[in-house]
Amino acid sequence: MEMVFLGTGSAWCIPEHTCDCAICRSMTQAGEERTRTSILFRGSESILVDCGPDIRAQMVRNHVTRPDVILITHEHADHSSGLDDLLAFRRSVPREVWQPIPVYATDAAWTSIENRFGYLVGSLIEKRLAVPGKGIQLSTCRVTPFKTFHGPSAPGSVGYVLEFQHRGDIFKVSYTSDFVSLIDEPPCVMKPDVLIIQAHWFNEPLENRPFHMSFQNAVHYIRQWRPKNAAYLVHISDGDHVPGDPANSYLKKLAPKDPLAHPIGTPYPVPCCRDQWQAVVDKVCGDHEIPGRVFVPWDNMLVPLFTDA
Ligand SMILES: [Zn+2]
Ligand SMILES: [Zn+2]
Repeated sequence: MEMVFLGTGSAWCIPEHTCDCAICRSMTQAGEERTRTSILFRGSESILVDCGPDIRAQMVRNHVTRPDVILITHEHADHSSGLDDLLAFRRSVPREVWQPIPVYATDAAWTSIENRFGYLVGSLIEKRLAVPGKGIQLSTCRVTPFKTFHGPSAPGSVGYVLEFQHRGDIFKVSYTSDFVSLIDEPPCVMKPDVLIIQAHWFNEPLENRPFHMSFQNAVHYIRQWRPKNAAYLVHISDGDHVPGDPANSYLKKLAPKDPLAHPIGTPYPVPCCRDQWQAVVDKVCGDHEIPGRVFVPWDNMLVPLFTDA
């Protein structure tokens, strides 16, 4: 079993088209791109989590074949609007062979998804309900949705705990996607082997109107949930203020509330490109004694999890 980070960026991809802010400039110079966040677990069965507008290119780049199951975290376009692109799988197999792909989302998320993609239900995809707290048994994995709070525009948002059965043992992944807080913290999310968590900003902004998780706040969950192997940060945006950048006046830029700082020192530099992100995350984790490793993955990064039996 391996996981493939198909995309690791925020809703509009970074660098953002036409943007000249310090973050977008730095990424352009480094030849980096973060497309809409989506992840594939690929092994004896393949599970796709979220299906945004970049899904076709992401699947081509990573040689993705028909997923066995799709889990949608919420109804926002950057997580669901690529469903129509899955038609490629159906169009290129003999008629009698095709089986619709089971797609799980909450009732509230389905209301919005069916408004846009109702014509796919029954032919391309099969509607399945994700109910928070209720386990879904797949062939080698048990999936438990848990409720996340991602603001009033995403009433259907959930994270997923994936428990892969592996040689009589369980390999657990906790996946949060977009959220700002949790309504309750179910015990099943704790102590995963791997935690995948949003870091939309580096510093928590003064006003978190878009209801996303910052790295500064994610530190709390990493501490609390104690991933055994590692935590991975996804859904990274260009919304942080970078000191001295004239682009700080742009609409998307949000000033920090109380920037992450060394315990007895000055604020950490706001990371712009991938290397800076990993360097500053390592420094923060070391200075603040955060257990385990925290990685800042990039698009198309492949992480082996365990050997399938
Ligand atoms: Zn998103
Ligand atoms: Zn969202």
